Amino acid sequence: MDMKVWGLTTNGNFTIKSAYHSLESVSIQDSMSRLWNLVWKWPGPQRIKTFLWLLVHNRIMTNEERARRGCAQTPSCGRCPAQNESILHCLRDCPFSHGFWIKLVKGKSLSLFFGTNIIDWIKLCLTKEIGMHEVDWGITFGVAVWYLWKWRNQQIFEENFTPPWNPVSIIMTMVSEITKSLLPENGVLVEHRKTCVQLCWIMPPDGWVTLNTDGSSRGNPGVSGAGGLLRNSDENWLAGFAVALGVCSSTSAELWAVFHGLRPAWKLEFKKVMMEVDSKTVAAYLSNENNGTNLHISLIARIQKIMAQD
Ligand SMILES: [Zn+2]
Repeated sequence: MDMKVWGLTTNGNFTIKSAYHSLESVSIQDSMSRLWNLVWKWPGPQRIKTFLWLLVHNRIMTNEERARRGCAQTPSCGRCPAQNESILHCLRDCPFSHGFWIKLVKGKSLSLFFGTNIIDWIKLCLTKEIGMHEVDWGITFGVAVWYLWKWRNQQIFEENFTPPWNPVSIIMTMVSEITKSLLPENGVLVEHRKTCVQLCWIMPPDGWVTLNTDGSSRGNPGVSGAGGLLRNSDENWLAGFAVALGVCSSTSAELWAVFHGLRPAWKLEFKKVMMEVDSKTVAAYLSNENNGTNLHISLIARIQKIMAQD
């Protein structure tokens, strides 16, 4: 004879407690899958996205985790031995990390920021704008935790490593580069005939045009600009541009120069374009010899997309 049983208890009898636990576990799963989604959609470099994925899965090999797996003798923090090095300790609460966040998080959000468990902390940082700078906090958070972990490893494993004296500015530079690489296609483009400097020029074959570009960064990273010009095989000037880029690295500036140079070439319907750049790194990135650091990947992909257009 068939009979109804409650599947969440061993004896088949319904209890409020088992129903409550069941609902609770569904809501935890929902919440975790929302968090994984947030990490999945994080817009910056893949290496940082991968780090965030490890973070939400509790797979960062801190001393506490290494000791738990029997790979380390002590779970203590290598930088302030009185505390166990959990993920939260390492990336947020350790004095080496704490002082750093104070310079990034809005004062009114500090108690929430330092008062949550790890999952709520990551969720908070990927969903709320709690940064004191005028940039996306989710991107800033991802870049910051990635750098904190990198510097922690260097401090422990590299004998001569000195922590950077300007960590916030290093992070903000990367944030700014990621933000710029996400700009829509119709970014700034200024026609400017007289400011382009010819560095090197080889006459292109008939029917081809040459694009010369140059990008520079005062400080690397620092205030940067890019410019370039297009000429045909009769040595005639066809178009030129000069663009202010804000703060970025010299490699970024060179890449932006190519990006801004290819767009007028495409607009003017030149499909046979010889490019001359004065950076071996950028030439290698664009010819696929080297896919570049992940930091530049989205910008390289946008340039390669223009190059591949027919
Ligand atoms: Zn510590």
